[in-house]
Amino acid sequence: MAYCGKCGNQMPDGDLFCSKCGAKIGGSAAVPAASNQEKGYSVILTSVPDDKKAKVIQVLRVSAGCGTVDAKNMINTVPSTVKSNLSKNSADALAAELTAAGAEASSTA
Ligand SMILES: [Zn+2]
Repeated sequence: MAYCGKCGNQMPDGDLFCSKCGAKIGGSAAVPAASNQEKGYSVILTSVPDDKKAKVIQVLRVSAGCGTVDAKNMINTVPSTVKSNLSKNSADALAAELTAAGAEASSTA
């Protein structure tokens, strides 16, 4: 049995295209989508400009689930760990959101 590398759909061996999303399947078996989900990644906040603090606090509260006081403490004591023990995808996504809000943030294993 093969899996679509794009949507994870299960397909009979030998199919060239996914019946669900239409993605082309390579010659070898596609890797199941869950392979990139190992935990252990952290998001580190390294810098927040003064004029971006309100926006970054909002991202910390909504996307990272921090309380307002915790979020303010993180911003005022950079570098600080926003969240740890995330999957790589989750850490990358949160770091990208913080960066988009004007902060400097990175995900690290
Ligand atoms: Zn598919």
